[in-house]
This record gives sequence, structure tokens and C-alpha cells, in this order.
Amino acid sequence: MKPVIVLGSGLAGYTLVRELRKLNRDIPVTLVSRDSGDYYSKPMLSNAFAQNKDATSLVLTPASEMAKQLGITLLAHTDVRAIHRHEKRLDTCSGALEYDRLILALGADPIRIPLQGDATGAVLSVNDLTDYAQLRDALGTAKSIAIMGGGLIGCEFANDLAVAGYAVTVIDPGPYPLASLMPEQAGKQLLEPLTKLGVTWRFGTAVQRIDKATSGYALTLAGGTVVHADLVLSAIGLRPRIQLARDAGINVNRGIVVNERLCTDDDSIFALGDCAEIEGRVLPFVLPVMHAGRALASILNAEETRVNFPAMPVVVKTPVHPVAVLPVARDAAGAWQVMASGQGVKMGFFDEQNKMTGFVLTGEYVGERSQMTKMLR
Ligand SMILES: Cc1cc2nc3c(=O)[nH]c(=O)nc-3n(C[C@H](O)[C@H](O)[C@H](O)COP(=O)(O)OP(=O)(O)OC[C@H]3O[C@@H](n4cnc5c(N)ncnc54)[C@H](O)[C@@H]3O)c2cc1C
Repeated sequence: MKPVIVLGSGLAGYTLVRELRKLNRDIPVTLVSRDSGDYYSKPMLSNAFAQNKDATSLVLTPASEMAKQLGITLLAHTDVRAIHRHEKRLDTCSGALEYDRLILALGADPIRIPLQGDATGAVLSVNDLTDYAQLRDALGTAKSIAIMGGGLIGCEFANDLAVAGYAVTVIDPGPYPLASLMPEQAGKQLLEPLTKLGVTWRFGTAVQRIDKATSGYALTLAGGTVVHADLVLSAIGLRPRIQLARDAGINVNRGIVVNERLCTDDDSIFALGDCAEIEGRVLPFVLPVMHAGRALASILNAEETRVNFPAMPVVVKTPVHPVAVLPVARDAAGAWQVMASGQGVKMGFFDEQNKMTGFVLTGEYVGERSQMTKMLR
């Protein structure tokens, strides 16, 4: 019997296999990953510095132990280069593999924007354990860090690195932190405590060039201002890994396109996690990955299941002023309203029928997530 082959050993790949094993221990599973296959929690990467954790100590379960626990064949450090759909075969860097069903859990790549200058190659981004190890090495003698992007990941790193004692400057084209997720009043609640922690902000602008300086780097911003830093970290977003699927003729858009059964337009090939576009939505967060993993396990076990996402608030790990947000679409009709304010703010987004369709909680209100979720209609 040919195996189910899962490509990727991130949260999506491992959640799926774990859920499948709860239902069925007999289906042969091969998990193929170009990384080590060690199991870790990716959200820890932007919270580990202040705790002085290195990459090794972030590994929760080594790959060999995962393989044993789950009863799977695990091929680590194995890059998959092509999918031959009609023969149900993969080309990998160490030979061909045949599958019965194929699961794409390939994740996403950090977005790189074109920059000028002689030090553009020095820009780091952190999307896996290897990146995190590199960041720690690079931070060895650094004192100052410029972070490109004041969104979720940028703010989390700003908090973490500022607590760890680095001088952090965040550069973002928006007017305040997390501007794509929440209204100004909530953004300012986060801005103040991070500023008190020592974070410097450059809003309404973007990095255009990065050059080597006598010490560290000189970042030239739109408008001509120059910011100096010993290290540059990019946190401007992720792009789903779709190339492997596209080359195989599988339907892709922003992500690998799947239906509510997480199936691509090839009925032997499924996708979930950061690489997938599920019914038009790319949802690069832990909770949707868990829901999709559970649903796909049932589907592979021949159960009639469809993925169904409840309201899934995103928690921003900025301990200096925590935030939980259920964002609304950029063009949603309605308005944000303050529901309470004190050491933080509680806001709801109300549509034209006065129904709450989104919310943001900061500071002292962040614990009210489940009450707010119940209020959604
Ligand atoms: C710094 C950071 C902090 C975050 N914090 C939060 C948070 O607080 N809350 C939250 O909800 N979400 C958070 N997220 C998002 C969340 O962690 C991700 O949505 C989730 O981990 C994605 O899992 P994944 O398995 O889809 O992708 P990944 O973990 O990226 O896994 C992809 C896998 O595919 C493998 N792969 C890729 N290409 C190939 C190939 N060609 N051949 C073989 N293998 C391949 C890779 O080696 C890897 O094993 C955070 C993300 C980051 C980067």
C-alpha cells in the first residue's frame, strides 16, 4: 500500500499526522521535510530572546521521537523538487517517492522587497529555527536593531528585543503599530508602553536602501532620513509557498487553492497551513491550522467532513501591553466603537445593522476574548 505523504514538518504537517493517528494507526504515513523535522512552536520564535533561549532549547520533541510516537516514516533534510501528479510520484533531492494521497503543508516564505544599497543581503527574517539561530548569532555584538514592519511579528520582536536590552527602531509605512489589524485608538495603546520600553518609531515611511556603514548599517528611508543599526530584521509578511504546486499544474492563487474539504483540483492532493488558500482565505495563524488539521485527518480517514472555522481572535504576544484582535475586512462597512477603556481599551466593530463583527482588546481587557467572541453574531 502506498503511503499518504505529508510535505512539511511544521505545525500543519504535525497537527494533521497527530490527528490522523487518533483516528487510524494503520494508514502508512511518510512525512518529508527539508528541515530537521524537529517539533517546535513557531510562535515562540518572537518571544524567546528575552528568555535567553537558543534554537536548540526551543525544540519540544526531536524528529526521531516524533516519528516513533506517531508511527511514521520521517525523511528529514529532504527537499521535494517536483510533483508528477499523473504518476503520483515526487522527485526529492534523494530519490523518487510514490504516494497514494499527497498533503502539501509547505508553509510560507518571508516577503523580500527590492532594496537598493550594498548591504541588502544582510537583512534577516525569522520564520524557522534556523533563522532564529542565525539571528542569535548575528546579535552577538549588536546593540541596535532596525525592524522593517510594525505589524504583529514586528511588534512582538520589538517587545522581545527591547526587553533583552537592544535599542530597537521600527520602520513602518502605516501611521501606528498593527495598523492593518486594528483602529488607531487601540494601536496607540500599544505604542505608548513599547515607546517607554525604549522602542523608537518611524511611521509613514519605508526603507529604500541599506548600505554598510563604518559600524553596522545605514538605512535610508523614503524622504532621505538615515537610520543607523547594527542589525536589520525584516518582518513585513509572508507569502504562501505555491511554486511546487504551480509547477505541477495545481490551481494556485495567493495560496494553493483548496475547497472546504481541503482538496486541490487534483482529488489526491490536499493542502493546509500557511501555504493554503481555503475557500478564498489565507489564514497564517495557529488556530486555523489546528482546525484544518483536525478536519483533514477525518477526511483522510474517509469521513464526510468539511472544515469549519469559528471566530478566531489573534493574540499579539507583546507582554508589555498584550493585544487580542478579531480583525475585520479592510473594506467592511461599519465603525469601531469604544466599549471600555482604562489600562487598555475594549473596542467592537459594529456593522450597519449594529451587529458586532470584530473586536480588539488591549491591556487589562485582553482576558475577555471568550466573552467578546460569544457576543459576535
Ligand atoms: C515569528 C512568528 C511568530 C508567530 N506567532 C504566532 C502567534 O503568536 N499566534 C499565531 O496564531 N500564529 C503565529 N505565527 C504563525 C504560525 O506560527 C504559523 O501560521 C504556523 O506555524 C504555520 O505552520 P505551517 O506548518 O503551515 O508552516 P511551517 O511551520 O513554515 O512549515 C512548513 C514546512 O514545510 C517544509 N517545506 C517547505 N518547502 C519544502 C519542500 N520543497 N520540500 C520539503 N519540505 C518543504 C519546511 O521545511 C517546513 O517543515 C507566527 C509566525 C512567526 C513566523
